[in-house]
Amino acid sequence: MQDYRMWVGGDWCDAAGGATFASANPYTGENWARFPRADAQDVDRAVEAAHLAFTEGDWPNWTASARGAALTRLAGLITEEAERLAEIEVRDNGKLMAEMGNQCRYMANWYAYYGGLADKVEGHVPPIDKPGVVNMVHYEPLGVCALITPWNSPLLLLAWKLAPALAAGNTVVIKPSEYTSASTLELMVLVEKAGIPPGVVNVVTGFGAEAGMPLVTHPLVRKIAFTGGESAGQAINEAAARDFKKVTLELGGKSPNIVFDDADLDAAVPGAVSGIFAASGQTCVAGSRLLLQESIYDDFLARLVGMAKAARLGDPMAPETNISPVATRAQHEKVLSYIETARAEGARCVLGGKAARPEGSGGHFVEPTIFVDVRNDMRIAQEEVFGPVLSVMRFRDEDEAVAIANDVLYGLAAGVWTRDLTRALRMSRRLQAGTVWVNTYRSTSYTTPFGGWKRSGLGRENGSEAIKEYLQPKSVWLAEPVAVANPFIRR
Ligand code: NAD
Repeated sequence: MQDYRMWVGGDWCDAAGGATFASANPYTGENWARFPRADAQDVDRAVEAAHLAFTEGDWPNWTASARGAALTRLAGLITEEAERLAEIEVRDNGKLMAEMGNQCRYMANWYAYYGGLADKVEGHVPPIDKPGVVNMVHYEPLGVCALITPWNSPLLLLAWKLAPALAAGNTVVIKPSEYTSASTLELMVLVEKAGIPPGVVNVVTGFGAEAGMPLVTHPLVRKIAFTGGESAGQAINEAAARDFKKVTLELGGKSPNIVFDDADLDAAVPGAVSGIFAASGQTCVAGSRLLLQESIYDDFLARLVGMAKAARLGDPMAPETNISPVATRAQHEKVLSYIETARAEGARCVLGGKAARPEGSGGHFVEPTIFVDVRNDMRIAQEEVFGPVLSVMRFRDEDEAVAIANDVLYGLAAGVWTRDLTRALRMSRRLQAGTVWVNTYRSTSYTTPFGGWKRSGLGRENGSEAIKEYLQPKSVWLAEPVAVANPFIRR
């Protein structure tokens, strides 16, 4: 059992009350690490440290170039440590080492990108409509930002928030998922090595109600950046609204993956498999509704089932494993209950549909599961399962595909497979989603915005626009002094 401590004001510390909680390895099922269990008192200490670092000391005097240089150093340190960080993530969330290794190496790009962007955010001088006046617009940081992350991609989703928040000059308090706190704490060693001053980045570990909500409602917190489920997102949005705090919310999805009859099936079949079964379906962008055009339906389905059936369940550290465990027992039960609901609603299971446990594992697996005869009004087609469960539907033409695709409460992402460029453009315009992939799926990048329509979220992460989510404009008026004849009339 490894003992971790929280990172507050540049010191490693325990919870004030001394409480702890444990984190289990989803593959072995055994607890491997212990963390301080923060409550409102610990959150207050962390927010005060962040507030102090924002208002006094070195950080407020750092130039944007100095902040950028520190982020660039952090990117280099992450690259050196990527394998080790990925191993910790696998131990905590059970996802494949092959995926988490790539993710941790790629994640360094966010720090390099926003490091480069830090001193390229320019204000402007509007041609103001008053004589003898110069008006300047500066972009200033917000203050203390609360960064709350989920368990499925802890360090990557933190990078989407932490890199722009620091580039913009804010200070932060991070609350990682109670299931995956270790990698975020390990990152703090690198944050310190990169020369980021004490108190600029703080981490409290604990649960949503005990640590997350006190962080959201703390009066000194000015912004909340959250990735997670819909119900927590709703609670955070409501609490933030009461104090007029800014929010960025990255929530769930029920993304359509649409295959037209002119698609390159050699690309589309693996695209559909990876869209839903990669990470055991535990991704916000999972292509959990597969829409197949009538004329290719049977052929596509046969190839899809063949490929999914061959997927190997096993140890996420082993390179030959394709399907990793579901991260928690609660999530496992939720996925299985959706499978039962789908059956009860009349969907037909053509692959999987059961729990599994490969030899040597003490964890919880679900077989890759495919349902056909799904109607779009069934719960399995409308609600996020967050597991390896695919709903397949058929469509006649473009209009019907669009109608089915958009008929959900979510709008995070959509996939389109076609060789017809004009159709691709039309579909990308008509689909209600923050991201549309044509002939690819699951790609994200630090250079392009990511976020959801409808109940999938608010605001955008990534790309050059995202830094504005951590800045506020200030309008400064410089006037030549003039004697005013009548001070009661505005100039
Ligand atoms: P979750 O909402 O249970 O928890 C996310 C984080 O919020 C955790 O740190 C948790 O402790 C905290 N939290 C929970 N309740 C809270 C509250 N009331 N106040 C403050 N903090 C609270 O989500 P999860 O199960 O960890 O993650 C899975 C969900 O995340 C899925 O719905 C998935 O779609 C979503 N997700 C979205 C994206 C995206 O970018 N859109 C990416 C990954 C995951």
